Amino acid sequence: MKFTGTRSDCAVDSAFAIASGLAADGGLFVPQSFPVFTAEEFAAMTDMDYCQRAAAVLEKYLTDYTADEIKYCVEGAYKGTFDNDYPAPVVDIADNRRMLELWHGPTCAFKDLALQLLPYLLTTALKKTGTGREAVILVATSGDTGKAALAGFADVKDTRIIVFYPRDGVSDMQKLQMTTQKGGNVAVCAIAGNFDDAQNGVKAIFTDDEMKKFLLDNNMEFSSANSINFGRLVPQVVYYVSAYCDMLKDGSLKAGEEFNVVVPTGNFGNILAAVYAKKMGVPVKKFICASNRNNVLTDFIRTGVYDRNRPFHTTESPSMDILISSNLERLLHMLSDGNCELVAGLMAELKNSGRYEIPANMLEKLQQEFYGTWCDDAAGAAEIAEIFKAQNYLCDTHTAVAVAAGKAYRKETGDETLQLIASTASAYKFAPAVLAALTDEALADDDFEKLEKLSQITGTAVPAPLANLKGDAVLHKECINKEDMPSFIKGKLV
Ligand SMILES: *Cc1c(COP(=O)(O)O)cnc(C)c1O
Repeated sequence: MKFTGTRSDCAVDSAFAIASGLAADGGLFVPQSFPVFTAEEFAAMTDMDYCQRAAAVLEKYLTDYTADEIKYCVEGAYKGTFDNDYPAPVVDIADNRRMLELWHGPTCAFKDLALQLLPYLLTTALKKTGTGREAVILVATSGDTGKAALAGFADVKDTRIIVFYPRDGVSDMQKLQMTTQKGGNVAVCAIAGNFDDAQNGVKAIFTDDEMKKFLLDNNMEFSSANSINFGRLVPQVVYYVSAYCDMLKDGSLKAGEEFNVVVPTGNFGNILAAVYAKKMGVPVKKFICASNRNNVLTDFIRTGVYDRNRPFHTTESPSMDILISSNLERLLHMLSDGNCELVAGLMAELKNSGRYEIPANMLEKLQQEFYGTWCDDAAGAAEIAEIFKAQNYLCDTHTAVAVAAGKAYRKETGDETLQLIASTASAYKFAPAVLAALTDEALADDDFEKLEKLSQITGTAVPAPLANLKGDAVLHKECINKEDMPSFIKGKLV
């Protein structure tokens, strides 16, 4: 299997795609074709555990990795790191709906599924591409990605990870998750500024010749853990394949029977993984793309016009507060039958004017498979309360947006097909907003008390990774100005 770029054709191995992250022209790597599972292969996978299913999917894409390398990667990622060694359980919540719970990992959000595996895929790729250098992962985060990347890369041989977060731009819980991170190869630092300052600082360092030389002199190179790396996408395909197998096994579906997928969407990575799963033979009928008030994707699916020129809203589902959904570029490549010139043109328009419109034939294809809708924080909160009352099911603010979208879809179309809803975070990760949705009681402004309170009123347990933070020492206290990021990095590396 070779990989090509979305903006110009090429043919590279998966190890090269994963090690470099982005194509040289700024495009994203996509597989040249999609491998397909036969009905017999799906049947055989129903009796496999998660690691075996992951290996079966990875083997189809990462054909330049040996079977032993793939086994080493998936077992390192998924054995002993998720509750009950079951990274992505499917839970029946009645009304022909299933929750695909993706938050049983070390940071309680779905990014763990990819960021536990990426370090293994990346270090293996670096060995195969053969420079022998140490990889330095730089991350600018607004919260969830930073912690998931730290948890994934901590103490991984031949890697260093340095995370920058805006001092005033993350929640107390997110901050504590990062500043208590242990590991001999990790560094975490606050920036006196906002997320853009942190992100621009990181971007500038990536392309700074003096910094690059400094790294080379020390036998190191920069690498990226963000969601445009194919190494973050392929682990997400696994859980849709796995969910289909689980639903075959428990009788929710017959072989080949279609179901709908509902995904709370920000950067378009999670929902795109479901599209890849369909290409591999998982019988998905509709992709229901759920957005919050930053509803640029809803408008795109309905009109074919992508327009980021609109106000940015800060919401209770912050991981979906995004106006440029990077992974959409991969879908455009697919919808245009691999027309790189067209994709490059649209991306240039997006960069220059913040807006583009796809041709009518692409819009028609998009609408055959996608349905887009959105809801605001109040509607999300109402959904949290209702699903808890009706099904005794506790869901977080992001998942609530998806539940609402699934309902809106049923109401508008009358399509009662089974819905698989991606449940992307533990409710405890967003306890203040979830509690406000469930109770009118006035509460003290203490995050750990809120965890306890949520546990009391719902009869569910506080996830250990969050509860344990209380006793953890804060190890990373530095706060610097953006201009001082290069010297901070140098100081940490040598
Ligand atoms: C990142 C994230 C999302 C959005 O996923 P994308 O792949 O960016 O579309 C949704 N929910 C949670 C909890 C997240 O952390």
